[in-house]
Amino acid sequence: MPELPEVETIRRALAPLVEGRVVTALTVHDPRWTQPLHPAEVADAVTGRRLDQLLRRGKYLQFAFEDDVNLLVHLRMTGTLLYDAPTERPYRRVTFMLDDGHALAFCDPRRFGTGELAVGAPALAAFYGPRVGIEPLDDALTGRLLKLLARGRRASVKAFLLDQRQIAGVGNIYADEALFRARIHPLRPAGSLTGRQCDALAGAVRDALEAGLKAGGATIDDFRRPDGTYGAFQDEFLVHRRAGKPCPECATAIVKLVAAGRGTYVCPRCQPVPRVRSPRLKPCSGI
Ligand SMILES: [Zn+2]
Repeated sequence: MPELPEVETIRRALAPLVEGRVVTALTVHDPRWTQPLHPAEVADAVTGRRLDQLLRRGKYLQFAFEDDVNLLVHLRMTGTLLYDAPTERPYRRVTFMLDDGHALAFCDPRRFGTGELAVGAPALAAFYGPRVGIEPLDDALTGRLLKLLARGRRASVKAFLLDQRQIAGVGNIYADEALFRARIHPLRPAGSLTGRQCDALAGAVRDALEAGLKAGGATIDDFRRPDGTYGAFQDEFLVHRRAGKPCPECATAIVKLVAAGRGTYVCPRCQPVPRVRSPRLKPCSGI
């Protein structure tokens, strides 16, 4: 599933190609994409308008058109945005025609991706308010803020990192990589983290995301850059999807657990188990 580095990789690649262009036609091939709105409502709002900026908030791509019209695109599990994709490209759900003759396609085998509309600043604030928390690449993410957000939370730190309303953009890959970098076990209750661990985690989240960005994102299943090429970060994972392989720090075999309902990878030596053993700590085999 695309996370912040994958979505930001798309944004950086697309922005110079699409900013300043007018959408001459928006064709929604799959009406589920715009639910609960009718595809015609979204197409009418966007067609004929100039795209001022392509922005990102958490895992949302924000197509900011003139007149304060915003199209908020979420890739969910398998969505990709391809620039000048071959016309026979399968799973095409939406096509944007641009005034310079180029086209942008939203392709999505699993069909969970969405395109929602927010017109005007209050609507945009109301959209993001309940969905996305702080941006982890901003200076706002400090150990102190993490400690404040985690205070009293008994859920695991892994679940805490995956909660988009706390920190926006971190998903399964980058949560595992950040927890390993910070030497924190994913099943530790978030509220039990010390100030020092929160400092380490804030830095580790940023470092893991920046490493992903530098590699152009991670391609495990479907992620593609807008030109159809793969990300490279999957070749640089420290622990994620590396069950049985040696820890890059201490050579102990990486172990797979389930945390927050997700396959989670840890070094049992670098990331010691919390002293009060959680009943949810279930080792499982394979990757
Ligand atoms: Zn280790």
